[in-house]
This record gives sequence, structure tokens and C-alpha cells, in this order.
Amino acid sequence: MKPQVLLVEDEPGIQMILADRLDLEGYEVDTAEDGDIGLQKALNGKYDLIILDVMLPKKSGFEVCRTMRQNNIMTPVLMLTARGNVVDKVTGLQIGADDYLTKPFDTMELVARLQALLRRSQIPGARLSDTYEFADVKVDFKRSEVTRAGAVVPMSAREFQLLRYLIEHRDETISREELLKEVWGYEATPETRTVDVHMAWLRQKLEENQKFPKHFVTVRGMGYRFSEV
Ligand code: CA
Repeated sequence: MKPQVLLVEDEPGIQMILADRLDLEGYEVDTAEDGDIGLQKALNGKYDLIILDVMLPKKSGFEVCRTMRQNNIMTPVLMLTARGNVVDKVTGLQIGADDYLTKPFDTMELVARLQALLRRSQIPGARLSDTYEFADVKVDFKRSEVTRAGAVVPMSAREFQLLRYLIEHRDETISREELLKEVWGYEATPETRTVDVHMAWLRQKLEENQKFPKHFVTVRGMGYRFSEV
């Protein structure tokens, strides 16, 4: 079956070019021209990937993404941000986007990012049992759900993938480069800060005291390590 992509983009030119290209690459493409329609479609949860422009009529891409995550729609989201707007990139990742591309972008690059996202979201949990627990946190790999003291913790698909990788490699020190390659699927090394930002969110969500993390530990000069205690 073809992977289904939802493309939320209001600029007809970009929408057409991307839709054609994705079709050529073997994706089934559905489109939405504004944030309202985009959100409505995203909420039915049938897509494998969502490409989400930030500047949209009716609802911004940020709003769409945030509402999706609040409704537990964990479909990987690639955000299209305005040129060179660093604030947008960080905001996008914070509200649950999994990756971003800055306009104008190369369609080859976009396709590569989508493939990486798709690959990461389809990793079978072969090495793990269905659930894993540490402290008051319970991770359900089948349902892609994390609960803390019984309450669901909202998480982006990327955060969940990072958590899964750390748990799979618990008690090992893992470099930022390895995490970028294995969790983000990048062959080259882009910004290693991306890893730090996501690690900070995991701590914020899952540590008792994020300033003194017990489980998601920084190994100075090396990378990170996850431990149960
Ligand atoms: Ca736009």
C-alpha cells in the first residue's frame, strides 16, 4: 500500500509542485488549503505523514499541530517554516512537530526527510516487550503511549522514537551523532542541538526534577544515557 501524505499548504504553486513530486515518488497525496481543513483531515488519523505549512489561512500550522497532539494524533509532522526563522523552528519542534524545512527548499531534500520520518515511524518493536516501566512512567510501545502516574503524557512522534531508542539502549552512552542518525535518520550531521532540545523535553515531561535528571543523563563530552535508576 502507498504511504498516505496529507499536504497542508495554501500556496497553489508549491502545493502543485509537491503533490506532483510526491505522487511520482509513490506517495498517495491528499491536500488541504487552510488550517481548518488541514486539522479536520489530520484528526481522522489515517495518514502516514503530514506536511504542514506554518503560515496558513484560518489556523496556523502551529495551531494545527498542537491540536493534533492534544488529540493524541501522533502522525509524524514535517513543518515548512519561513525563511531563516529560528524561532519558528524551535516553536515547531516544541509543539510536537517531528522535523522542519525552511522555505525555499529543494524537493529532493523534502522527499529525503519524509522517507526518514516514515522509516523511523515504522520501526518494529522487535527488541522490546509491549510495555516498559521506570519510576512512575509507563511506556506502551504498541499504543505509542506514555503515561505518568496513570495520566497520559502528550508526546510528539519524534520524542517517542527517541525515548524508545534510549530504552532499547538503556545503560549505554549514546552520542548525539548516533541519535541523529538512528532516530532522525540523517546521514549527514545537521544541528546536534536538535537532540539536546528533544532531550530537554523528555526530561521536562518524564523526570521528577528536570534540573537534576536521574534517568536521562548527560555524559559530558560523550552524549546521553538512559537508566532506570
Ligand atoms: Ca503559507
